[in-house]
Formats: sequence, structure tokens, C-alpha cells
Amino acid sequence: MLNKTKDEIENAPTPGPLFGLPLPELTALMKRLNQPAYRATQLHHALYRQRVASPDEISTLPADLRDLLKTEGYTIGLPEIVQTARSIDGTERYLIRMADGETVETVWMPDGDGGERGDGSQAAEEEEKEDQENNSIAAEQNPAAFPYRRSTICVSSQVGCAVNCQFCLTAKLGIRRNLTAGEIAGQVAAVLNRHQVALSSSRGNPTPARINLVFMGMGEPFLNYANFIAAVRLLTQMPIPESRMTVSTSGILPGILDFAKEIVRPKLAVSLNASNDQVRESIMPITRKWNIAALLEALATIPLRNREWITFEYVLLGGINDSLQHADELIALVRDMRCKINLIVWNSGPNMPFHEPPQSGVSAFQKRIMAAGIPAYIRRPRGRDIYAACGQLKRTVEQPPQLVELAPA
Ligand code: SAH
Ligand code: SF4
Repeated sequence: MLNKTKDEIENAPTPGPLFGLPLPELTALMKRLNQPAYRATQLHHALYRQRVASPDEISTLPADLRDLLKTEGYTIGLPEIVQTARSIDGTERYLIRMADGETVETVWMPDGDGGERGDGSQAAEEEEKEDQENNSIAAEQNPAAFPYRRSTICVSSQVGCAVNCQFCLTAKLGIRRNLTAGEIAGQVAAVLNRHQVALSSSRGNPTPARINLVFMGMGEPFLNYANFIAAVRLLTQMPIPESRMTVSTSGILPGILDFAKEIVRPKLAVSLNASNDQVRESIMPITRKWNIAALLEALATIPLRNREWITFEYVLLGGINDSLQHADELIALVRDMRCKINLIVWNSGPNMPFHEPPQSGVSAFQKRIMAAGIPAYIRRPRGRDIYAACGQLKRTVEQPPQLVELAPA
């Protein structure tokens, strides 16, 4: 007879999706079902390592237990890719549907350009050089895995967004709801399954894919903090190390202060986007709540690790924040921080009162910052032709008709 406390039984998860539950909850469930604890470990492995799509695929569990889970109403509950579009640069954009019918967008940016110039992740750039050296060997050893040996997935954290940045298309949706931890991590599982990506090395797979994650899709991760950080923990089980993850925030102070205390955490990018409060307020109304000084003060509480820096994102909006005077103000703001600047040329959206700065202005802005000894990169837009680039994510139903539709996943 297995020992069960009343508490354990009461804490067991109610019927619904299993994907998203951490090991203690799976253990409580197995206890309630009178199963030994190792069944929870097997289930955990099936969910996060094997990324099974249905209980029938969990070959380590006996058939009667799989049936019991199903009859009790437990599902795997991975979100589903319902629409796809592929860019000429290889980027793919997915419309992903949650169990209640709400949808978000997730973006796949395969190998082909360096991180800072395209996908926004910090890990990618460091790996780029190493990859160039190893690619020929890897392709030879395992041609099947080669095309996706390194890729970045851009993950959404909310359906819509409440922050209302004036230059961002996602803002137009308003906020519909938070995503659960399972729905955030589930986007990654769904995309990895689509590309049949093997993450951990095994005998049949000598060159496991290196996947970087950027939490830079729809939504403000730090306004859905608990679910976001729970998703990070699940994703590390897949396993994707947190050092390969970067989260971007518009500057939600309570979130930054919580983040500073995390032991397991991604790298941080902050959407600064302006060099003074007046300009920032006009494009990011959130500045009225937390101004730039307060934001920088909160960032200073984050204990940076070896070779870690904070990335400031700066969307260049022609005639608004892109002058050399703005560059000088920006330098003065961040000069004492271990940081770098990611310059993002504004990606257009319909009926938005902004325009791209001229290319010459963008280079001059970058040079000015670099001359002050601060690393600055111009992020090359990914998937602009399919509206997959930064700030262009808005549920696809309303997208223009020229999208290239692929066969359903
Ligand atoms: N909500 C978070 C993460 C998602 S937005 C945040 O704002 O940080 C990811 C990045 O895209 C942010 O740096 C944001 O400033 C930028 N962005 C938003 N709209 C954009 C647009 N139209 N063109 C270029 N970058 C944009
Ligand atoms: Fe939300 Fe980020 Fe878009 Fe601002 S830029 S509205 S915080 S998704």
C-alpha cells in the first residue's frame, strides 16, 4: 500500500493538460492514482524530453495507466500550430492555438545569420564562430540534423499586450489573457516537434541541435512573471539551458526586481527605445509609471554573471529618436553599465505614424555609440515579408493575403 497524505491527494492536479505540470504535481497525481513515484518521473520524461503529443505515445507507462489518464480527462495539451508562413530568409511564423481557441504567434529563425544581427539572442553570436568551424564536420557526420543545428525560437508570453507602445503592432490587440507556463513552453515543444529537433545527444544523434530562445514575441513577459519563470524551468528540463534564453521587457520594475533574485534565469534585454523620458513617454506610455532613472536603478540590482551583459534594445524611429544628439544622450545613460545596444530599425505596420530612418543615419548612430566604447549592433530584421519581424506579430487572421502558406503541420 502506498502512503498518501490528505494534502497530497488534494494538491493533485485536476483533469486537464499535463504539459506544463512540474514534477511535484505529476508525483501528486500518480499518488492519487495509486501509482509508484517513478511513474511520475517517466511521465515527466515523456512530456519534456520526448515531447509526446498524446498519452498513447508514452510507451514507458502501462496501457491501463494511459487509459486511466485518458478516462479521467487528462490530455497532453500541447498547443497546436494551425497556420504557417515562410519568409524568403528562411524564417517561419506560426499561428499557434491554445485549448480555449486563443492564438499567439511564434517565430522560427533557422541558422543562417548571426544572433545579434537577426534573432536577438545573446548566445547565438558567441556560437556563430564556433559553428562556422564545426559546420562542415557536423554536416558530414549527420546530414539529416544539419539544417537545424542552430536555430532561435521567438516565444510569446501573453495573448496581446497591455503596454501600448505606439510603434508596436501587438499593442493594437490590447491584452486578452496571460499564457500559462505550459502554453509558453508548449510553443517551443510544438515548434521543435514540427522540425523534429533532437535536443539531447544520444548515440543516434552525435550533434544535438542548439536552440536559442528569445521571449520577444507577443506580450510583456514581466507582466506574466510567475508563468514566464515557471516556463523557463520547464524549458530547462527539455533540456534547453537558461544561458541560451533571452527575455525582453519593456521595463516592468517589479518584474525586474524579482528577476534579479532568480537563481535560474535567462539573459535580459530591455526595450529602452529612447534616450530621455520625454521621447520615451511619447512612444512608450509606461514611462509615466517608471521613468528611465528608476529603470536603470532597478537594473543595477541584477547580479551579472561572468561574461554577462544587459542588452538595451533601441528601435530607431525616423525623426523621433535617431539623431546623433539622441545617441549622445543614450551613451551618457548607459556608459557605466556592462551592456550593449541592439539597434532595431523600425519594422513598419499598417496605419502607423512612423517611418524608417535612412540607412546612413542608422550607421552614423551606431558608429557614435561604438566610438564611446559601447558595443552596438544593428539587428537585421527577420521575416519582414511575412510580418514576422519585431513588433509585427498580430494574430494572422488579419494579415495581408500575399503570405506563402505551407501545408498544415
Ligand atoms: N514586450 C517585450 C518583448 C516583445 S517586443 C518588450 O517590449 O521588450 C520585442 C522587441 O521588439 C522590443 O524591443 C520592442 O521594442 C521591439 N519592437 C516592437 N515593435 C517594433 C517594430 N514595429 N519594429 C521594430 N521593433 C519593434
Ligand atoms: Fe507590448 Fe513589447 Fe509591443 Fe510594447 S513592444 S506593446 S511591451 S509587445
